[in-house]
Amino acid sequence: MPALPDSVRMREVGPRDGFQNEPETIATADKVRLIDLLAATGLKRIEVTSFVRSDVIPQLADAEEVLAGVERRDGVAFSVLIPNERGLDRALEQRDRFDEISVFLSASETHNQRNVNRSIEESLNGLERTLETAREAGLRCEGVIATSFGCPYEGEVPSERVFGIAERLAAAGCAEVGFGDTTGMANPCQVHAFFAEARDRLAGAELTAHFHNTRGQGLANVLAALEEGIDSFEASFGELGGCPVPPGSTGNVSSEDVVSMLHEMGVETGVDLPALIEASRAAQQVLGRPLGSHVLRAGPVDWAGSQATN
Ligand code: ZN
Repeated sequence: MPALPDSVRMREVGPRDGFQNEPETIATADKVRLIDLLAATGLKRIEVTSFVRSDVIPQLADAEEVLAGVERRDGVAFSVLIPNERGLDRALEQRDRFDEISVFLSASETHNQRNVNRSIEESLNGLERTLETAREAGLRCEGVIATSFGCPYEGEVPSERVFGIAERLAAAGCAEVGFGDTTGMANPCQVHAFFAEARDRLAGAELTAHFHNTRGQGLANVLAALEEGIDSFEASFGELGGCPVPPGSTGNVSSEDVVSMLHEMGVETGVDLPALIEASRAAQQVLGRPLGSHVLRAGPVDWAGSQATN
């Protein structure tokens, strides 16, 4: 069996990827309480909101209020998702309340058009200017490439195109490049081959895997990436999440499922799993429905107690 990293960095993206996909807008006070709970679990990176236009994603129209409400903690980096230069201008008015930005585009022309109404080249040109401004403001930058492993409209996405976009983002100042399996189309064999090549091609940047569990392959894909030496992951508590297009794109791989699997395999995350489960339970109460994560339902593995049931 390939050696696994001793520890990984987790970024919690539920407050953005999750909350933006909820049919009902969550009250700002509830968002703030849930983010405060997440920040107390030992998670060191949290994507707290997005500065997209409120008429496009009304669920995150309270980005300023959320940032003003959440408690800053030493050692916890807050990031915000930035769609374009206008979004960055809005975010910079709150500059002291966050540490990092993520910018995004799709590796599929069709998905990018439907998601942000631009061609890939138009997105890259805009993001290059946005990243320059962000770096001048001292912000660490991540570039996320959606549909890196397949597109619901176009099917296969050539990894050559994904790596070309990643190289442009790295050259424009992204210290980190995230690869999104936005609609859960990746399989573990593909993930192995993808990251084996990505590590060679993009040696200077931190490479982050962002899997959705739309078809139940999220954890298998996390393991495949780990086996290729990837040690940075994004996930959502409670398996919240999705994608605005197409409809029916369900949640990210669940943070507590990932953390539980990693801990059972001896890979450190720094996260207090019971505290993370409590945060997901609180989200379940706010949303008023059972959430998809397995560990939320079953609890952490308990070797001593597991003999009691069969
Ligand atoms: Zn996502």
